Formats: sequence, structure tokens, C-alpha cells
Amino acid sequence: MNWDAIADRSIQDVPPGREEALAVLRAPGAELPAVLTAAYRVRRHFHGNRVKIHVLLNAMSGLCSEDCGFCSQSREASGPVEKHRLLPVDAMVEAARKAKEAKAWKFCIVTSTRGPNERQLEAVCEAVRRIKAEVGIRVCASLGILEDGQAERLKASGLDRFNHNLETSERRFPEICSTHAYDDRVRTVRAAQSAGLEACSGGIIGMGESDEDVVEMAFNARALGATSVPVNFFDPRPGTSLAGCPPPSPAKCLLALCLFRFVNPSRDIRAAGGREKNLRSLQALALYPCNSIFTGGYLTTPGNRPNEDHQMIHDLGFVIEEDGSS
Ligand code: SF4
Repeated sequence: MNWDAIADRSIQDVPPGREEALAVLRAPGAELPAVLTAAYRVRRHFHGNRVKIHVLLNAMSGLCSEDCGFCSQSREASGPVEKHRLLPVDAMVEAARKAKEAKAWKFCIVTSTRGPNERQLEAVCEAVRRIKAEVGIRVCASLGILEDGQAERLKASGLDRFNHNLETSERRFPEICSTHAYDDRVRTVRAAQSAGLEACSGGIIGMGESDEDVVEMAFNARALGATSVPVNFFDPRPGTSLAGCPPPSPAKCLLALCLFRFVNPSRDIRAAGGREKNLRSLQALALYPCNSIFTGGYLTTPGNRPNEDHQMIHDLGFVIEEDGSS
């Protein structure tokens, strides 16, 4: 396969064909450096050597009514996970301040819920208003499925971006979740975009999906037009129905990131949850296709400390893209 030709077309915003996309995912080990080099050309064209760091806050933990099979915060999950209601606004503002100190480009408020009720929505809006005024950092929220008018209120509060992941392919979604539909997720992403918010929407690699499913995920992210595409790597949580899924190899994770880059050339592609556990010693190589990472841990699992990630970025000769917005 001519990886350079795929990169040349991707730079022109022409994605690979489906067969080429499958070939990326199935590239043999000896081809991995060539695929990474081609994906890096596309990344460098659109994002230089800059890295956007994101910091998450689990603002309401372990209390979700939904049954997503991968999620330790689901009503169905029986593993040990911290449970708390929505944090006070002061705590959200303080977490944003710490994210800024960690050189974050964006701070993300996440709640484990099907969707926000009135009190939760107003509290998040108030937190966003205060963060923009007192901290000065871009803010994303991930609050589940939005009802009519909620995206507009979040936008009016000053929110920059709304996250809602499609999680897996449309074909596979009903095997992962029965309490809401793939279309519910697509509708919420579209509602956020219609309200003028940037959309962040990605998925999880390693939940037993096929290569064809991964290709569909990459193309669905493109069709959705999400500004930001987080690619998570499944980290099986005890007490969840998908806990027995075998992990993808580090090379497979990297090839999936390259595919997302070729298909979504100008977007922010983020090596997201499960990076440390699944990529192991190859973590740094994820920054060749990706221009973004989370630091400081995830919703219910730990991750690298910010200073470790800063060092990794520096060691590669890349630079942290900090945010000075308000
Ligand atoms: S809706 Fe979100 S928080 Fe709730 S179970 Fe699904 S993934 Fe977990």
C-alpha cells in the first residue's frame, strides 16, 4: 500500500477509500513506521508540532441511569466506583484553575447521567460563566443527551464545546447500550452544533468491534463534522458486561489513530482514555497522528501526571498549545 499517496490525498481533504482504510488497520508490524510517518505528514500540515492538552473533571460520578456495557458508572455496573452528586460550582471553578496550571488548552466538565435536569444544567452554566470570568480557559461539557433548548443555554453561558461520543459503530451500538439509541447521540451532537457550540465526538477502540466497525467510526466522525475526535482505548472495568474483552495491541491502537487522522485530516484527534494502559511504551508515538491528549487521569481511572505528559511532549520536540482565551 502506498501510504504516502494516502497522506497526499488526506492533506487535500480527500479521505482514503474503504479498502485503503481497512489496509491501514491491518498493516503488518514492519509497516507501522511508514504508516505513522504518513499520518504525521498530515498532522504536521494541519497542526504543526503543537499538542492540545485537555483536563477532565468528573463532576457527577457513578450515578447514571443508562446501561452502556463499557461504563463503570452505569446502573448495571457492580464494580467499585466513587459515587457523588453534582459538585458545587466552587469546586468546578477550582478544578478549572488547576487545569489551567496543568497547561490545559481545554477544561471539560463531565457528568454521569442520561442528560442534565434543570438544576444540574443551571449549575453547570453558572460554573462556565464563573470559569470564563475568573480563570480564562476554554470549557467543554459532557452532560449526556440534551433536550430542546439546553444547548442554547449552555452556549449563552459561554461554553465553547459540547462532547457526546458516538462510542462505536451504528451497527454495534445496540450490543453496547439498550437504554438509548445511536440516533439519540447523533441528535445531541447536531443540537450542540446548531446552537453554535463546537462538537467533540469520538469513540472507543477495543470493545470487540470489527475492523469494518472502526472504519465506520472514523467515517462517521467525518460525516458528523466534529471539531474534536477523542479516540479512547477500552480499559475493561471490573463489574461491567464488557469486562472480558481482550485489549487491542499497542500497534493496533496506533494504526487506528492513523486511520482517524487520514479520514479526519484537519480535526483535533485526541489519544484519549486508556492511552497509558493500551499503548504502554508506545504512548509517545500517538503524538505522530494525534495533536491532543488528556492528562491527569480520566473519569474513573488514573492516567499520567501532567508533568509526565509535559516531559513526553518536550522529549519529542513538540510544544504545548496553551489557551489564553477567556
Ligand atoms: S450514558 Fe455515559 S455515564 Fe451513563 S452509562 Fe453511558 S457512558 Fe456511562
